[in-house]
Amino acid sequence: MLSAYPVDEVEYLVVGAGVSGLSFANWMREAATAAGHRIPEVLVLEADGEPGGYCKTVKQDGFVWDYSGHFFHFKHPEIEAWLRARMPDQTILTVDKRAFIRFEGRDIDFPFQKNIHQLPRADFIDCLVDLHFRSRGDGVPGSFKAMLYERFGRSIAEKFLIPYNEKLYACDLDLLDADAMGRFFPHADVDDIIRNMRSSDNRSYNSTFTYPTGGAIEYIRALLRDLPADTVAYRERLERVDLSRQVAITSRREIRFRRLVSSAPLNRLAAACGLSFDAGRFSWNKVLVFNLGFDAKGSPTPHWMYFPDRALCFYRVGWYDNIMGADRMSLYVEVGADADATFDVEAMRVRVLDDLHRAGIVDEQRLVSWHSVVLDPAYVHVNRAAQAEQSRLTPTLNAAGVYPVGRYGGWTYCSIEDNMVETRALARAFAPLLR
Ligand SMILES: Cc1cc2nc3c(=O)[nH]c(=O)nc-3n(C[C@H](O)[C@H](O)[C@H](O)COP(=O)(O)OP(=O)(O)OC[C@H]3O[C@@H](n4cnc5c(N)ncnc54)[C@H](O)[C@@H]3O)c2cc1C
Repeated sequence: MLSAYPVDEVEYLVVGAGVSGLSFANWMREAATAAGHRIPEVLVLEADGEPGGYCKTVKQDGFVWDYSGHFFHFKHPEIEAWLRARMPDQTILTVDKRAFIRFEGRDIDFPFQKNIHQLPRADFIDCLVDLHFRSRGDGVPGSFKAMLYERFGRSIAEKFLIPYNEKLYACDLDLLDADAMGRFFPHADVDDIIRNMRSSDNRSYNSTFTYPTGGAIEYIRALLRDLPADTVAYRERLERVDLSRQVAITSRREIRFRRLVSSAPLNRLAAACGLSFDAGRFSWNKVLVFNLGFDAKGSPTPHWMYFPDRALCFYRVGWYDNIMGADRMSLYVEVGADADATFDVEAMRVRVLDDLHRAGIVDEQRLVSWHSVVLDPAYVHVNRAAQAEQSRLTPTLNAAGVYPVGRYGGWTYCSIEDNMVETRALARAFAPLLR
């Protein structure tokens, strides 16, 4: 649906009707109201024909699929309550995570590093001995790969953490900073690992997660609920920005803005703004996601599973049916690839199905429905080179009234809640300027 917004001047121009852009539009209204100021004009440009960004949901042949599994774990109860108040018709499931690693035919509890005692005896001994005798650096490890060796020893690193993450990130892990995954990486020290051998405690940031039965898009619907109907201009792409005039050139018109808040990937925004920067410092992966619906149930146990085996094309598989309590197997399958990769989707689908058979996930079940999507970028490579460019570009952009936000604007690894927290802080910082 096209929305022709009759302006060529707006106070707050937002790029992207994903979680970040739509949250900002809401928070700006709330912050203005709380401060007793007028509600400012906000226009959201969305290149796509529908809202959601990566929080879209596909409903097909009775299956409910996201753009790969999107599950939620809120740390800010007020944010979760705010969203839930705007989705009164949704059943929101609360689920205790069941996640495994497929290692040489066995299913090991996640995280691997805390469950080495479940490995075949020889692998367990390798992991334990290498953990004990690992060489520890003094100071912050130089890369993600170095961190894995220094913290967990050679065998834990090489049997799972390195092959799995190389399949996911599609790069040498020396390219990533030690802290590239932030709080999303399940750290464990030797005491945790040894203690876990007797009494299991595999808690992590998402041990319990929530999921609306209508899919991730329900959070987007909640974010659209209080916004005026013409807030989003669909199929309108930001193409260039004239920073000196504070004018955005879109696929349809020129729009003068006071502030531009953009959830587009930072490197693409910087290029659109005509800034000179070292494009080679930004790298990322793509993820090809297959959503696959079958005519019968498979294993009733896992919610998702990690696959370090390089002979299998996917790095992770998730079971929507086990989360939703459905009676037909409904999988998401994620294949990581280099940013330059092109996919022969049909050939890859055949390979994925073959590999699912080889892994024993699909047996007699018949595929009855499927969908695929490429996420590009999916996981940005968080490292010092990109951060240095980011620290140089952001002040220049801010000085011209342009604010990159979100997972890709901020070139980071984060959750949808993080996107909401970040844009709330930005809106609150702007509110006093509305007088
Ligand atoms: C594989 C994967 C799994 C994930 N799982 C989870 C999970 O389980 N839980 C969780 O909380 N988070 C998860 N995330 C993270 C979550 O998807 C993101 O944090 C969130 O969707 C980012 O929202 P955003 O609005 O910042 O960006 P996006 O969702 O990328 O939205 C940006 C929007 O901007 C539009 N746009 C871009 N450029 C332009 C332009 N030039 N002009 C106009 N419009 C433009 C795009 O079309 C898009 O709609 C996952 C991410 C990935 C990749």
